[in-house]
Amino acid sequence: MLKIKNLHANIDGKEILNGINLTVNAGEVHAIMGPNGSGKSTLASVIAGKEEFEVTEGEILMENESIIESSPEERAHKGIFLSFQYPVEIPGVSVTNFVKTAINESRKAQGLEEMGAKEMLKLLREKSELLGIDRKFLSRSLNEGFSGGEKKRNEIFQMAMLEPKLAILDETDSGLDIDALRVVANGVNTLRTKDNAVILITHYQRLLEYIVPDFVHVLHNGKIVKSGTKELALELEEKGYDWLKPESVV
Ligand code: ADP
Ligand code: MG
Ligand code: MG
Repeated sequence: MLKIKNLHANIDGKEILNGINLTVNAGEVHAIMGPNGSGKSTLASVIAGKEEFEVTEGEILMENESIIESSPEERAHKGIFLSFQYPVEIPGVSVTNFVKTAINESRKAQGLEEMGAKEMLKLLREKSELLGIDRKFLSRSLNEGFSGGEKKRNEIFQMAMLEPKLAILDETDSGLDIDALRVVANGVNTLRTKDNAVILITHYQRLLEYIVPDFVHVLHNGKIVKSGTKELALELEEKGYDWLKPESVV
């Protein structure tokens, strides 16, 4: 599904990604871990096509097509979803209306007609039931006074509605309480199929107790310094990251 080859990226002339190689197949969940500042969020942004980063070398293929020149919108239409790409608070716009707009914008860009009201309602019902999200939540104003868990519920709901092929979830280093953690884990596990894939960026080994990844990669100074299976996450929990610093790997 996604193939990243020797990816180098800069911001303000400073090299942040330093030769990333990563292949993600349909049906797989990849966890990306690594210390603060190692480039995890940058990698997510570069895959999603955020324009503040300059790709200086390498290639990103989505289903065998290069997306390196594609805009973030084009990448979204190819089925790449990045969490946290939306404004934090939009007072007056409900969770439902926001997601309807997102779906119809995406359809418009693909030359499709707007989704009919009936079909939309059916999809809303189906996905909210699947995720155990109640009606009241769907009519809440977007992110206004949302708890950590509710923000996550909204994000996971957007993901469920948009049905991306590749979801990239960047769980930043703070603010994931146990409720939020459960929402993310239940959402990912519920939405996981053999046809989609997830890149889960996390600082927390604990999240990986709920979402069992197929692969774990450790990023250091913009490079993947180690890849393994879920056992690697346990090893990191025990030993930390220092033993994997490039200079200490002989
Ligand atoms: P992580 O998500 O692993 O904590 P980031 O990708 O956020 O790491 O950051 C990697 C490095 O890139 C850090 O040194 C950070 O300071 C730098 N960086 C990230 N975003 C920017 C930016 N917008 N401007 C300048 N430097 C940045
Ligand atoms: Mg960080
Ligand atoms: Mg980050």
